[in-house]
Amino acid sequence: MEFRKKCKSESGFCTKICKKNWLKILGIVGRDGGYTAKVADACIIIPTPNPANTTPHAEAFQAVIWHLIVSHPKLKFAQTKWNQYMLVNQAIFLDRDGVLNESIVKNGKPYPPATLAELVIAEDVLPALQMLKSLDYLLICVTNQPDVLRKNTTREIVESIHSKLMELLPLNEILVCYHDDKDECLCRKPLPGLLFQQQINIILI
Ligand SMILES: [Zn+2]
Repeated sequence: MEFRKKCKSESGFCTKICKKNWLKILGIVGRDGGYTAKVADACIIIPTPNPANTTPHAEAFQAVIWHLIVSHPKLKFAQTKWNQYMLVNQAIFLDRDGVLNESIVKNGKPYPPATLAELVIAEDVLPALQMLKSLDYLLICVTNQPDVLRKNTTREIVESIHSKLMELLPLNEILVCYHDDKDECLCRKPLPGLLFQQQINIILI
């Protein structure tokens, strides 16, 4: 919502976001193309036989292009309805220790907080997550916590840390792998098991 408000109020906000995220910009506009013609990777300027109809002509042509895009077989999961496609959520996956909270450094090596008292939210994390949230991203923390099996902490402590993180930060979910290397599980990062959990599908669609 915030994103849409900003798009309307701040000229070029959407294009800046697109460029930052390496997206291509296709412009379909009337008159001389204006700002869009300058920033777009490709820009189609609709001829204007009647200046009173510039906007409806350009928008009608935009609708044709949208239809071609959403009818693409690769988007079949959205049943070719552009409004359903737009409603699929987007998420950002974040690591926990050293990203959301400070790692505890001992002898030059980073460790996760072993108690709730050791939990310190890293600087600037809250405003950064709030900004991502305002762009309509779901925020999902994905973390390996082998220290429970290694007896450096307990599962209860890890869960209390996660409750605190959920309370202090605008996270939608925290997904955890409690295994260690020898377990050879599929959910220990960098393997992608956690990302394929049923839980994720429920959140995303
Ligand atoms: Zn695992």
